[in-house]
Amino acid sequence: SEKWIRPDRTVVTICPYCGVGCSLDLKISEDRILSVTPSRDGAVNRGQACVKGHFGLEEIIHHPDRFTTPLIKRNGQFEPASWDEALDLVARRFTEIQDRYGPDSLGAFSSSRCTNEENYLVQKLARAVFKTNNVDNCARVCHAPSVTGLAACFGSGAATNSFDQIEDADVLFIIGSNTTEAHPVVSLKIIKAARNGAKIIVADPRKIELVDRASVWLNQKPGTSIALINAMMNVILKEGLEDRDFIDRRTMGFENLQKTVEEYPPERASQITGVAAEDIIEAARLYASADKAMIIYGLGITEHTTGTSNVMSLGNLAMLTGNVGRRSTGIMPLRGQNNVQGACDMGALPNVHVGYQPVTDAGIRSKFEEAWKVALPSVPGQTSTQMIERNPGKEIRGLYILGEDPAHTEPDTNRVRSTLESLDFLVVQEIFPTETTRYADVILPAASFAECDGTFTNGERRIQRVRKAIPALCGQENWLTICQIAQRMGYPMSYGHPSEIMDEIASLAPMFAGVKFDRLDDGGLQWPIPSLDHPGTETLHAESFSCGLGRFNAVQHKYPAEQTDTEYPLILTTGRRREHYNCGSMTRRSKGIMWVWPEEAIEISPADARELEIEDGETVVVSSRRGSVKTKARVTDKSSRGMAFMSFHYQDVLTNLLTNAALDPQAKTPEYKACAVKIEKLKA
Ligand code: SF4
Repeated sequence: SEKWIRPDRTVVTICPYCGVGCSLDLKISEDRILSVTPSRDGAVNRGQACVKGHFGLEEIIHHPDRFTTPLIKRNGQFEPASWDEALDLVARRFTEIQDRYGPDSLGAFSSSRCTNEENYLVQKLARAVFKTNNVDNCARVCHAPSVTGLAACFGSGAATNSFDQIEDADVLFIIGSNTTEAHPVVSLKIIKAARNGAKIIVADPRKIELVDRASVWLNQKPGTSIALINAMMNVILKEGLEDRDFIDRRTMGFENLQKTVEEYPPERASQITGVAAEDIIEAARLYASADKAMIIYGLGITEHTTGTSNVMSLGNLAMLTGNVGRRSTGIMPLRGQNNVQGACDMGALPNVHVGYQPVTDAGIRSKFEEAWKVALPSVPGQTSTQMIERNPGKEIRGLYILGEDPAHTEPDTNRVRSTLESLDFLVVQEIFPTETTRYADVILPAASFAECDGTFTNGERRIQRVRKAIPALCGQENWLTICQIAQRMGYPMSYGHPSEIMDEIASLAPMFAGVKFDRLDDGGLQWPIPSLDHPGTETLHAESFSCGLGRFNAVQHKYPAEQTDTEYPLILTTGRRREHYNCGSMTRRSKGIMWVWPEEAIEISPADARELEIEDGETVVVSSRRGSVKTKARVTDKSSRGMAFMSFHYQDVLTNLLTNAALDPQAKTPEYKACAVKIEKLKA
């Protein structure tokens, strides 16, 4: 077996699966990856990795399903083509659409799975070559509310502290994050904190593993976080547990917040959330009395129509108690994909250039126009969710998708399929066949993380080096492909190496001014890094907030967009499983991972199972107002009565046929976490 071949070199790089950013050692012999093990000296993981990092990579990189040559669809069938032929066609069709329907008929989905340098080039392609701000990345469907919500409170939309600081907190308030499944290496730091004596508060509608470690479990109904947090603040103010000095010195808008939370005594919040009033009081006292209390949250906060307001509520709670700007305090949004932070930082968003510089600011625009030597659009573009909605008069006709699978991961799949089918021209650049590649006119093969040089930015703002371990199986790295599309469309985009792309980023974004590839070798750097001698920033907002004074944003509870009724009596919430990653196109190709977690199942409570006369393991049909899927039932006390759970990793059970595309009005993020469903026995 290959396992016994002696490796000729080791390349240290970053795991491509989640936003924790674990360092991995790739052992290589003759351009073949022999093994993947966690790096002992990894800045974040220090020798640890989860099942995906350990077992879900080596077989994926060399998998026979990898795209290795461009494919052009002719008469409904994909046929191999040369790079020249495929790129010529891509450039010609995009130019024709641009000429005929205008620049805003084109759009680009960049990728939270790709490097910072690739993301920077995709947004440059959209802005400088397509001449539109219609560019987005899949943060839109996960953590966009973190960017809008935290920026509204603190002036900066990112994690305030570092993962290592979790271990020294006195209290950890974990809300809407199944950390042991979705961010396993961070959960090890939580467990270490608990062993060190930290008290854990878990707010989650499911009985997740961390409930076993918790002093209080706030078993809330999905979509009730604002009522819960407002009630905690109500208790804190009533009992005088707020930090008056911090409120006076560092914040504004307190009076308005105070008035709003007066409307949420624990008894009222209990009726909304389903959590006992005593538990809300206990959680409030625990959090507010700690010297160092940290909030950790995930998509249970953001993937709601109230996502931005949910995030702002957490900002309110942290500021009310002075728990921000110090070590082991603050707010840690756990970013899902490996480079979701970086994709946003690089300006793969419709309203900002790299480093969150608004496209509407004339001074900033002229800086980019001078650097890129081209006139740039000034009106913010459409989000990915809006591009999929096909707003009348703003229809996208030509779309370039790099490393995303919206036909699998966007909500209400039938709607996404019909949009993709109706496009004049779709280019998808991918490593494996996915639901979305079916709809492509041209498939461009992509290089995997092991075949690229560049950087990823993890969930604590740490920019880390991704190192090319083997040559790209498809013949060229992704940054080069993006440059070649631009060149064929008449724009001179050209670099010798990704480090030159980072040099350009550093020259244009003050928060990255001190970044150079050779400064990242020893564990990376956490932004902001404003100069070449700056050591990076472990804790944000120490002396003042990015916006000066921190801003309280009083928000009111609002129920999820879709409610249960007699026809659809259960609330379905969706999420990840530890073994799998997003659309599953990678992890479902790992035999080891599929052996551990081979198939989807809907989790329901024993009480609901009894009522519906459904046995554990029985095949059932799950339907919402948008579609149906067939899957197995798993009866478990993780689910409370009236609530069901599914992941979205499997192509044969497309959970997003069921989910609701209703959007958070600010961040335009869909409400994956709550939709109404019914479960029926399979008819014979
Ligand atoms: Fe990779 Fe995340 Fe697992 Fe670390 S915790 S090994 S980054 S998937």
